[in-house]
Amino acid sequence: MDKIKKSILGPRLFVIAALAAAAWALVYKTGVASSDEAGIVLRLPEQVGEWRGMDLLFCPDRTCGGQFFSAQLEDPSTCPDCGAALGNMNWAERSMLPADTGLVRKYYARPGNQDGLHATIVLSGNDRSSIHRPQVCMTAAGHEIAHERVIRIPLEGRDEPLEVMVLDMLKPLARTDGAPAVYSSYYAYWFVGKDRETASHLARMAWMGYDRVFRGVSHRWAYIALAGARDPASDAHLQILANFASQLHPALLKPD
Ligand SMILES: [Zn+2]
Repeated sequence: MDKIKKSILGPRLFVIAALAAAAWALVYKTGVASSDEAGIVLRLPEQVGEWRGMDLLFCPDRTCGGQFFSAQLEDPSTCPDCGAALGNMNWAERSMLPADTGLVRKYYARPGNQDGLHATIVLSGNDRSSIHRPQVCMTAAGHEIAHERVIRIPLEGRDEPLEVMVLDMLKPLARTDGAPAVYSSYYAYWFVGKDRETASHLARMAWMGYDRVFRGVSHRWAYIALAGARDPASDAHLQILANFASQLHPALLKPD
Protein backbone atom coordinates (compact mmCIF):
# COMPACT_ATOMS: atom_id res chain seq x y z
CA MET A 1 0.00 0.00 0.00
CA ASP A 2 2.85 2.38 0.76
CA LYS A 3 3.84 2.26 -2.90
CA ILE A 4 0.72 4.21 -3.78
CA LYS A 5 1.11 7.87 -3.00
CA LYS A 6 -1.86 10.12 -3.18
CA SER A 7 -1.12 13.33 -4.98
CA ILE A 8 -2.47 16.32 -3.17
CA LEU A 9 -1.87 19.16 -5.57
CA GLY A 10 -2.47 18.76 -9.26
CA PRO A 11 -0.62 20.83 -11.86
CA ARG A 12 -3.09 23.68 -11.46
CA LEU A 13 -1.00 26.53 -12.73
CA PHE A 14 -0.11 24.62 -15.83
CA VAL A 15 -3.77 23.81 -16.39
CA ILE A 16 -4.82 27.44 -16.13
CA ALA A 17 -2.14 28.58 -18.59
CA ALA A 18 -2.98 25.84 -21.03
CA LEU A 19 -6.72 26.46 -20.72
CA ALA A 20 -6.03 29.93 -22.03
CA ALA A 21 -4.29 28.31 -24.97
CA ALA A 22 -7.27 26.01 -25.44
CA ALA A 23 -9.67 28.95 -25.48
CA TRP A 24 -7.52 30.63 -28.05
CA ALA A 25 -7.51 27.43 -30.09
CA LEU A 26 -11.30 27.39 -30.12
CA VAL A 27 -11.32 30.81 -31.72
CA TYR A 28 -8.50 30.16 -34.21
CA LYS A 29 -9.11 26.57 -35.01
CA THR A 30 -9.00 26.84 -38.76
CA GLY A 31 -5.95 25.34 -40.39
CA VAL A 32 -5.55 22.59 -37.84
CA ALA A 33 -4.74 19.19 -39.29
CA SER A 34 -6.47 16.18 -37.85
CA SER A 35 -4.09 13.32 -37.33
CA ASP A 36 -5.05 9.69 -37.03
CA GLU A 37 -2.16 9.09 -34.70
CA ALA A 38 -3.08 7.68 -31.34
CA GLY A 39 -0.82 7.15 -28.37
CA ILE A 40 -1.81 3.54 -27.77
CA VAL A 41 -3.14 0.49 -29.55
CA LEU A 42 -6.90 -0.08 -29.53
CA ARG A 43 -6.63 -3.62 -28.24
CA LEU A 44 -6.85 -5.30 -24.86
CA PRO A 45 -4.61 -8.32 -24.20
CA GLU A 46 -6.03 -11.81 -23.52
CA GLN A 47 -3.92 -12.01 -20.40
CA VAL A 48 -2.70 -9.30 -18.00
CA GLY A 49 -0.31 -10.96 -15.55
CA GLU A 50 -2.45 -13.57 -13.83
CA TRP A 51 -5.65 -11.84 -14.95
CA ARG A 52 -7.51 -13.50 -17.81
CA GLY A 53 -9.70 -11.44 -20.12
CA MET A 54 -13.15 -12.35 -21.38
CA ASP A 55 -15.04 -10.60 -24.19
CA LEU A 56 -18.33 -8.94 -23.32
CA LEU A 57 -21.23 -8.31 -25.67
CA PHE A 58 -24.18 -5.97 -25.22
CA CYS A 59 -27.69 -5.84 -26.58
CA PRO A 60 -28.38 -2.43 -28.19
CA ASP A 61 -32.03 -2.55 -27.09
CA ARG A 62 -32.45 -0.40 -23.98
CA THR A 63 -35.46 -2.30 -22.65
CA CYS A 64 -33.68 -5.64 -23.11
CA GLY A 65 -30.36 -4.50 -21.70
CA GLY A 66 -28.75 -7.93 -22.17
CA GLN A 67 -25.04 -8.39 -21.33
CA PHE A 68 -23.19 -11.59 -22.18
CA PHE A 69 -19.79 -13.23 -22.18
CA SER A 70 -19.29 -14.04 -25.84
CA ALA A 71 -17.64 -17.38 -24.98
CA GLN A 72 -20.90 -18.48 -23.33
CA LEU A 73 -23.08 -17.79 -26.37
CA GLU A 74 -23.81 -20.31 -29.07
CA ASP A 75 -24.26 -17.46 -31.56
CA PRO A 76 -22.31 -14.38 -30.45
CA SER A 77 -23.86 -12.24 -33.20
CA THR A 78 -27.42 -12.29 -31.84
CA CYS A 79 -29.00 -11.43 -28.47
CA PRO A 80 -30.47 -14.71 -27.09
CA ASP A 81 -33.18 -12.71 -25.27
CA CYS A 82 -34.56 -10.48 -28.01
CA GLY A 83 -32.78 -11.34 -31.27
CA ALA A 84 -31.09 -7.94 -31.79
CA ALA A 85 -27.56 -7.81 -33.20
CA LEU A 86 -25.03 -7.77 -30.35
CA GLY A 87 -22.12 -5.33 -30.23
CA ASN A 88 -19.36 -4.15 -27.90
CA MET A 89 -21.14 -0.95 -26.82
CA ASN A 90 -24.07 -0.78 -24.41
CA TRP A 91 -27.10 1.29 -25.37
CA ALA A 92 -25.88 4.40 -23.54
CA GLU A 93 -22.51 4.36 -25.29
CA ARG A 94 -24.15 3.67 -28.62
CA SER A 95 -26.45 6.66 -28.23
CA MET A 96 -23.81 9.05 -26.86
CA LEU A 97 -20.65 8.27 -28.83
CA PRO A 98 -20.11 9.21 -32.49
CA ALA A 99 -20.19 6.18 -34.80
CA ASP A 100 -16.45 6.35 -35.57
CA THR A 101 -15.47 6.13 -31.89
CA GLY A 102 -13.29 3.10 -31.23
CA LEU A 103 -14.17 0.99 -28.21
CA VAL A 104 -12.80 -2.27 -26.85
CA ARG A 105 -13.58 -3.87 -23.51
CA LYS A 106 -12.95 -7.02 -21.55
CA TYR A 107 -13.82 -8.39 -18.16
CA TYR A 108 -10.72 -9.63 -16.30
CA ALA A 109 -10.63 -12.13 -13.45
CA ARG A 110 -7.81 -13.96 -11.70
CA PRO A 111 -7.90 -17.45 -10.26
CA GLY A 112 -8.96 -17.70 -6.63
CA ASN A 113 -10.08 -14.06 -6.42
CA GLN A 114 -13.48 -12.45 -6.67
CA ASP A 115 -12.13 -9.02 -7.55
CA GLY A 116 -12.79 -9.11 -11.31
CA LEU A 117 -12.78 -5.81 -13.14
CA HIS A 118 -14.01 -4.29 -16.38
CA ALA A 119 -11.44 -2.66 -18.65
CA THR A 120 -12.46 -0.34 -21.47
CA ILE A 121 -10.53 1.68 -24.02
CA VAL A 122 -12.36 4.44 -25.88
CA LEU A 123 -10.53 6.06 -28.79
CA SER A 124 -11.96 9.31 -30.12
CA GLY A 125 -12.90 9.47 -33.79
CA ASN A 126 -12.94 12.51 -36.05
CA ASP A 127 -15.12 14.36 -33.59
CA ARG A 128 -12.52 14.91 -30.88
CA SER A 129 -15.23 15.86 -28.38
CA SER A 130 -16.41 12.27 -28.06
CA ILE A 131 -14.54 11.77 -24.79
CA HIS A 132 -16.40 13.58 -22.00
CA ARG A 133 -15.60 14.28 -18.40
CA PRO A 134 -16.34 10.87 -16.85
CA GLN A 135 -17.79 12.28 -13.62
CA VAL A 136 -20.71 13.69 -15.60
CA CYS A 137 -21.62 10.28 -17.02
CA MET A 138 -21.32 8.61 -13.61
CA THR A 139 -23.67 10.97 -11.82
CA ALA A 140 -26.07 10.86 -14.76
CA ALA A 141 -26.19 7.07 -14.33
CA GLY A 142 -27.29 7.47 -10.69
CA HIS A 143 -23.94 7.03 -8.96
CA GLU A 144 -22.87 9.27 -6.14
CA ILE A 145 -19.14 10.01 -6.08
CA ALA A 146 -18.08 9.44 -2.47
CA HIS A 147 -14.39 10.09 -2.96
CA GLU A 148 -12.15 11.25 -5.79
CA ARG A 149 -8.36 11.12 -5.85
CA VAL A 150 -5.34 10.55 -8.07
CA ILE A 151 -3.13 7.58 -7.24
CA ARG A 152 0.41 7.16 -8.55
CA ILE A 153 1.30 3.66 -9.68
CA PRO A 154 4.99 2.74 -10.10
CA LEU A 155 5.83 1.32 -13.55
CA GLU A 156 8.72 -0.98 -14.31
CA GLY A 157 11.31 0.65 -16.54
CA ARG A 158 9.92 4.17 -16.20
CA ASP A 159 10.79 6.86 -13.68
CA GLU A 160 7.41 8.59 -13.89
CA PRO A 161 4.59 6.71 -12.18
CA LEU A 162 1.28 6.21 -13.97
CA GLU A 163 -1.27 8.65 -12.55
CA VAL A 164 -4.80 7.27 -12.36
CA MET A 165 -7.95 9.08 -11.23
CA VAL A 166 -10.00 6.88 -8.91
CA LEU A 167 -13.65 7.59 -8.15
CA ASP A 168 -15.20 5.70 -5.23
CA MET A 169 -18.88 5.46 -5.97
CA LEU A 170 -22.12 4.61 -4.21
CA LYS A 171 -25.35 3.69 -5.91
CA PRO A 172 -28.59 3.21 -4.01
CA LEU A 173 -30.25 -0.04 -5.03
CA ALA A 174 -33.97 -0.58 -5.26
CA ARG A 175 -34.81 -3.57 -3.06
CA THR A 176 -38.17 -5.25 -3.07
CA ASP A 177 -38.35 -5.35 0.75
CA GLY A 178 -37.70 -1.60 0.97
CA ALA A 179 -34.56 -1.97 3.12
CA PRO A 180 -31.80 0.49 2.23
CA ALA A 181 -29.06 -1.02 0.10
CA VAL A 182 -26.05 0.50 -1.60
CA TYR A 183 -23.75 -0.82 -4.30
CA SER A 184 -20.15 0.30 -3.71
CA SER A 185 -17.93 0.41 -6.76
CA TYR A 186 -14.93 2.20 -8.16
CA TYR A 187 -14.27 3.78 -11.52
CA ALA A 188 -10.69 4.61 -12.45
CA TYR A 189 -9.32 6.22 -15.59
CA TRP A 190 -6.50 7.97 -17.38
CA PHE A 191 -6.10 9.54 -20.81
CA VAL A 192 -3.46 8.84 -23.44
CA GLY A 193 -2.62 11.00 -26.44
CA LYS A 194 0.37 10.86 -28.73
CA ASP A 195 3.34 11.39 -26.36
CA ARG A 196 0.92 12.44 -23.61
CA GLU A 197 -0.58 10.76 -20.57
CA THR A 198 -2.68 12.29 -17.82
CA ALA A 199 -5.34 11.40 -15.25
CA SER A 200 -6.86 14.87 -15.52
CA HIS A 201 -9.68 15.71 -17.90
CA LEU A 202 -8.69 19.40 -17.67
CA ALA A 203 -5.06 18.64 -18.50
CA ARG A 204 -6.19 16.57 -21.48
CA MET A 205 -8.33 19.45 -22.77
CA ALA A 206 -5.37 21.74 -22.23
CA TRP A 207 -2.98 19.46 -24.14
CA MET A 208 -5.48 19.27 -27.00
CA GLY A 209 -5.57 23.05 -27.15
CA TYR A 210 -1.80 23.31 -26.92
CA ASP A 211 -1.25 20.79 -29.73
CA ARG A 212 -3.77 22.59 -31.90
CA VAL A 213 -2.19 25.97 -31.42
CA PHE A 214 1.51 25.29 -31.18
CA ARG A 215 1.84 22.13 -33.27
CA GLY A 216 -1.13 22.56 -35.63
CA VAL A 217 -2.39 19.02 -35.06
CA SER A 218 -5.33 17.35 -33.38
CA HIS A 219 -4.50 13.81 -32.33
CA ARG A 220 -6.87 11.01 -31.40
CA TRP A 221 -7.01 10.71 -27.63
CA ALA A 222 -7.79 7.49 -25.84
CA TYR A 223 -9.48 6.99 -22.54
CA ILE A 224 -8.71 3.92 -20.44
CA ALA A 225 -11.21 2.98 -17.73
CA LEU A 226 -11.09 0.26 -15.09
CA ALA A 227 -14.15 -0.47 -12.98
CA GLY A 228 -15.26 -2.97 -10.38
CA ALA A 229 -16.92 -3.52 -7.03
CA ARG A 230 -15.20 -2.33 -3.85
CA ASP A 231 -15.39 -2.99 -0.14
CA PRO A 232 -16.83 0.25 1.32
CA ALA A 233 -14.84 -0.33 4.53
CA SER A 234 -11.39 -0.41 2.93
CA ASP A 235 -9.10 0.94 0.22
CA ALA A 236 -8.22 -2.56 -1.01
CA HIS A 237 -9.41 -1.64 -4.51
CA LEU A 238 -6.46 0.75 -4.87
CA GLN A 239 -4.04 -2.16 -4.56
CA ILE A 240 -6.08 -4.19 -7.07
CA LEU A 241 -5.98 -1.25 -9.48
CA ALA A 242 -2.23 -0.80 -9.02
CA ASN A 243 -1.63 -4.50 -9.62
CA PHE A 244 -3.73 -4.56 -12.79
CA ALA A 245 -2.84 -1.18 -14.32
CA SER A 246 0.92 -1.61 -13.84
CA GLN A 247 0.74 -4.81 -15.90
CA LEU A 248 -1.78 -3.51 -18.46
CA HIS A 249 0.14 -0.31 -19.18
CA PRO A 250 3.09 -1.85 -21.10
CA ALA A 251 0.66 -3.85 -23.27
CA LEU A 252 -1.08 -0.66 -24.47
CA LEU A 253 1.99 1.18 -25.68
CA LYS A 254 2.02 1.78 -29.36
CA PRO A 255 4.70 -0.20 -31.18
CA ASP A 256 7.05 2.16 -33.01
ZN1 LIG B 1 -31.59 -8.14 -26.36
